[in-house]
Parts: sequence; C-alpha cells; structure tokens
Amino acid sequence: MIPRRDLSGRVALVTGGASGIGLASARRLKAGGARVAIADADARRLSALRRSFGAADLYPVDVADAAAARDTVADLLRRRGHVDVLVLAAGICRDGVLWKMSDEAWERVIAVDLSGAAHYLRAAASALRVSRAGRVVIISSINGRRGKFGQANYAAAKAGLLGLARSAARELAASGVTVNIVEPGFTDTPMTAGLSAKVRRRALAETPLGRAARPEDIAEAVAFLAGPGAAHITGQALAVDGGQALGA
Ligand code: NAD
Repeated sequence: MIPRRDLSGRVALVTGGASGIGLASARRLKAGGARVAIADADARRLSALRRSFGAADLYPVDVADAAAARDTVADLLRRRGHVDVLVLAAGICRDGVLWKMSDEAWERVIAVDLSGAAHYLRAAASALRVSRAGRVVIISSINGRRGKFGQANYAAAKAGLLGLARSAARELAASGVTVNIVEPGFTDTPMTAGLSAKVRRRALAETPLGRAARPEDIAEAVAFLAGPGAAHITGQALAVDGGQALGA
C-alpha cells in the first residue's frame, strides 16, 4: 500500500525513533510527506539513519533529561519554523518482581517512559498550540491497562501516560491539538527480541489474531492519529494488539 501523502508540510518529532516502533513510525510519517526529526539515546543507530533523515534532524539525547528536551524542540523550531506532530515512543523495561526490584529499576523506567514523554510534551506544547494541526501520539502498552507480572514499574509508567494524555488533550483542545495514545501488544522489535521462546509463546497464545505485531502495524495507527482524518479524536487510547488484551 502506498501511504497517502496527507502529512505534507508537517514537521514531526519522534522520540525513540532510532529503533522498532519509533523507527517504523518515523518512516511512515516521512512516507506520508512529513519532515521527520528523531530524538534517541542510541547514537550508533541514529548515525545509520543519516542518509534517510538528514544528520541535522537526528538528536542524540536521553529523554529523561528535561533541559535536553527543551533544547531539542527549540533547535527544531529554529531550523524548521514549526513543530506539528509529536510521537513519543522512547521506552525501556527493567523487569523484576516488586520484592526484588531495585530503586534504580523503578526510577529509571519512570524517568524514561513517563517523565521522558512529559518532558517532550511540555517542551513542544507551545509550538503545537500555534500549529494549524498539532498532533501528539504517545506509545503506551496494553500492560499499562492490565498490569503485568514482573512489570510494575513499566505498567505504572504506561498507566501514567493515560493521565498525561487526557490532561494534555483537555488543555490543548482549544488550539485544535489532539493527544492520543496507542497501546501496542507484543510487537517484534529489539525490545522483545531477547525474551525467551516461552514468553513469546505465551504472548502469542493470548493473541486471538495469532501473531506478534510488526512495528509497521503500530506505525499505521500512529500515522492515522497524526493525520487529518483523526482531527476529531482526542484523549483516546487505541490498542493495536491483535486482540491480546481482550482475554486478559
Ligand atoms: P526498541 O528498543 O526497539 O526502541 C526503543 C527506542 O527508544 C530505542 O531506539 C532506544 O534507543 C530508545 N530509548 C530508550 N531509552 C531512551 C532514552 N532514555 N532516551 C532516548 N531514547 C531512548 O523498543 P520498541 O519495542 O520499539 O519500543 C517502543 C515503544 O513501544 C516503547 O515505549 C515501548 O514501551 C512500547 N511498547 C513496545 C512493545 C513491544 O512488544 N515491543 C509493546 C508495548 C509497548
């Protein structure tokens, strides 16, 4: 399928855009005509994207750094003049049951998965308000809604994104900005590549559509919510999970 070029003229910033779901979203937005910048902590992966996205639009940053979020958005605004689409996909897991979870595992996951998204949303809010078509799409997880054994930190961070998105949706609505969440189920990316065959089998067994998501499955939902067709949708969470959360 050839994507509709309905994002022409838009400037998008994708956090976590150097890999997996973020990268598929960045590519999909670019195919839709947007100018796409990527903020990601993985400098090596970023440098491999120089040809596709242009070196100036690749920001090697830790999303947990609020000052870097402000600098990144300010630089993008200075160079491109506007920021219209924000996709917040940067995320990590540090799994462990509560009674064994280290302070570091708790704090780092909250810092990256929840605060990282908030830093970029706060940094870009003013620019989005003056855009003619501001769009925010936040990548959460079905585990933010249902919880997951061994993922209390991750599930808490992802659940927090819902409150962030719904508050932002209310605050930014008067400026025509929409804020929505996509909740992937088990998706084949570097994040899940290291999981055991047993964990993967269990995830697929609870997925009625019978396969793992591809990053491109998630990117299609992101592109829809970032595009003109979703202008009247805000504060919503869309699971793209093959039905995985249905039976949980
Ligand atoms: P991934 O590991 O392929 O990609 C995550 C990207 O985020 C990487 O490029 C990484 O460098 C970047 N990143 C991590 N920490 C960062 C930081 N501190 N600052 C900046 N960048 C940072 O994983 P993915 O599966 O594509 O995950 C993308 C998002 O989707 C995450 O928020 C994840 O929680 C969510 N998600 C993934 C799955 C899945 O099954 N893969 C399911 C539900 C939700």
